[in-house]
Amino acid sequence: MTIHEAHKLLEEKQVSSVELTKVCLDRIQQVEPKVGAIVTVTEELALEQARKADELIADGDVNPLTGIPALIKDVMCTRGVRTTCSSKMLENFVPPYDAAVVEKLNEAGMVMVGKANMDEFAMGSSTEHSAFFPTHNPWDLSRVPGGSSGGSAAAVAAGEAIYTLGSDTGGSIRQPAGFCSVTGLKPTYGRVSRYGLVAFASSLDQIGPLTQDVTDCALVMNVIAGHDSRDSTSAPYHVPDYTQCLTGDIKGMKIGIPKEYFVEGMQSEVEAVIKAAISKLEGMGAVIGEVSLPHTRHALAVYYIIAPSEASANLARYDGTKYGFRYQGADTMWDTMDKTRQYGFGAEVKRRIMLGTYALSAGYYDAYYLKAQKVRTLIRREFDEAFEKFDALVTPTSPTVPFKIGEKVDDPVQMYLADVCTLPINIAGLPGISIPAGFADNLPIGMQIISKPFAEETILKIAHAYQQATDWHKRKPEL
Ligand code: GLN
Repeated sequence: MTIHEAHKLLEEKQVSSVELTKVCLDRIQQVEPKVGAIVTVTEELALEQARKADELIADGDVNPLTGIPALIKDVMCTRGVRTTCSSKMLENFVPPYDAAVVEKLNEAGMVMVGKANMDEFAMGSSTEHSAFFPTHNPWDLSRVPGGSSGGSAAAVAAGEAIYTLGSDTGGSIRQPAGFCSVTGLKPTYGRVSRYGLVAFASSLDQIGPLTQDVTDCALVMNVIAGHDSRDSTSAPYHVPDYTQCLTGDIKGMKIGIPKEYFVEGMQSEVEAVIKAAISKLEGMGAVIGEVSLPHTRHALAVYYIIAPSEASANLARYDGTKYGFRYQGADTMWDTMDKTRQYGFGAEVKRRIMLGTYALSAGYYDAYYLKAQKVRTLIRREFDEAFEKFDALVTPTSPTVPFKIGEKVDDPVQMYLADVCTLPINIAGLPGISIPAGFADNLPIGMQIISKPFAEETILKIAHAYQQATDWHKRKPEL
């Protein structure tokens, strides 16, 4: 059931939030041993919130999200509920406050059924870098769900929650949404407050929804978007009602196809599915044209300088002194810090910290970090030019279908390439969505739609129109 379908039943009193919540909790019991999407199930809290939601509904005081079971990626702080980032470092960390998005969802009457598994500190593309257990793709349990929001995407696909939140630094909402055949939006940098989001790369991080369709995505955005004085990067712009743009009409809209996104090494099935989706959009009245974004080929390199550099600074706080894991039994303060970081972080996180520390070192800063920032500006300008001619751009979300668990985990560069189509959008700070566009051998393929800053409405409009005309998003995996 989608949010809008469940909301209707709740309003008509055909079902109660407690009943809906029990269905989700039962489903979690049933499929979690196979899927592994959830780090912490918050059954008691969920039932208590559901009872409160039922009271609100009885009083007629309802938001479309009131009483709807949700799952939050374990990188967002939840007061009184441990927030682990799927890391040993924070395995027992219980935040004393809620992230801004959690606060807003609570005000709207959320029922939180748990916290979603992820790659440790959101570093990865497969959820295999969780320190606890990998998440399996509900469409094929031998394959990855994508990452780092793999738990969030898999849970929506498997029906463990009606919607979830993820975070996206270089593709972590869109790539798993594509791999699990759900809808995932990364809003514009600054659109959603990151207060209470555990920081990975602060100039790239954004929070966004993973849902079963575009209407649900708009409903969640209506609640979580907006300015917050506690996040100085959050933009002081008006938040529209995102459901208003869902008209189904895209006649005359100009859609650009960046030729650099149909890269060599891309799977032919992915190319075929995306080309068919583009023809569909054309058939619906969109005007399709080709565009070239030549600096795209530097985006991966730029990302793997900037993101690790920022991560190395952000993760300096985990030293065993203030909170989180602390190694017991070292002789000196320095030794405690060393060992805390040695045993508290996983291999991928350490790799990022070393890459970033190196790129920021004296003598290398100009050659790496500063240069990456300059190329970043070029990438952004190229997108700006493209949006003078086009309302939106369409690309594949990933160059491949979901890969096998274990296939890329020992080959970081292959893993990093999984985000080649999604991370340029973070570099330029743009909004992007992934929606289901088809299948190859029952494995999902996602289509990415991108637009200019704060043009979420343009993206949602096109994505919604596509979902009106197709039913890929309605297919569910058999578990
Ligand atoms: N897969 C990319 C990385 O490992 C992106 C992760 C993300 O968006 N959080 O950095």
